[in-house]
Amino acid sequence: MNTSLITGLHHVTSMASAPQKNVDFYAGILGLRLLKKTINFDAPDIYHLYYGDESGTPGSLMTFFPFNGISAGRQGKGQAVSTTFSIPVQSVEYWVRRLEQFEVRHKEPQERFGEVVIYFEDYDGLGLELIANDDDDREAFTYGHIPKEHSIRGFYSIELWEDTYEKTESVLVNQLNHQFIKESGSRRRYAPLNAKPGQIIDIVWAPENRYGVGGSGTVHHIAFDTPSLETQLEVREKIHQIGLSPTPVIDRQYFDAIYFREPGGVLFEVSTNKPKGFMTDEEFAHLGTHLMLPSWLEGRRTYIEKLLEPITLNPEKYASTY
Ligand code: ZN
Repeated sequence: MNTSLITGLHHVTSMASAPQKNVDFYAGILGLRLLKKTINFDAPDIYHLYYGDESGTPGSLMTFFPFNGISAGRQGKGQAVSTTFSIPVQSVEYWVRRLEQFEVRHKEPQERFGEVVIYFEDYDGLGLELIANDDDDREAFTYGHIPKEHSIRGFYSIELWEDTYEKTESVLVNQLNHQFIKESGSRRRYAPLNAKPGQIIDIVWAPENRYGVGGSGTVHHIAFDTPSLETQLEVREKIHQIGLSPTPVIDRQYFDAIYFREPGGVLFEVSTNKPKGFMTDEEFAHLGTHLMLPSWLEGRRTYIEKLLEPITLNPEKYASTY
């Protein structure tokens, strides 16, 4: 069996309301890089915004469809409920103060599997966490307003809420190359072999919880990273064999994707980066600065730009006061 069909997480895509607040939260408060400003190819009056580390490495990518007027969702079973970012152990106090400075809804730090976790929410109530750990060898990055030593390194893990864990576990283990790592109460942890931060899935199973409802503040889907088009097709075949009806490979401009719904209800994607990734249509230094349209919509640029409210990066507003 190929042990590297899945090499970790690729991205998380969620729904949000006001586009500018989304930019302010993820680029401003969290200090992620706005990597790409494009649109929902099926609904050109809606942005598709990508955030991540400096170059858009899989395992660091948050993407959003922010849309004023969307109804609020509800988090619950059958959804990815929290996306957890990795920070250094020394940075817990920095981040608690930062969340307080910008009045971000958050909980007191707690412990999980021996590590400190801080739960917080974005302006739409989307569940997020920071996990302090010193196992992360990914590079720090900054845009001037978060000191490098405290910056987010990328994802640590994603938490799925499920009715029960067995069927989802079976897909993770048998089709997606994950292993069961450990458990505590109703939390079970999975990862590919020799997992590092950015490659971890937690299933929290609680039959008494309500099912989630899509809308702003909820995750639309999570994507796993696969190394190549060949491994992507191999995963697709394995998913097909258990009757989960994967989509054909879909061109997402910066990566190629397949989608399927896992038995617990969460929409899974398996993606592989194209050779140039986010540098396909913009140079490294200019990532995220211009509205990018696919070639078939370029002729309607003036019309599309009028539909979208302008958004700006405001790093100076998000300097720490300590
Ligand atoms: Zn996706």
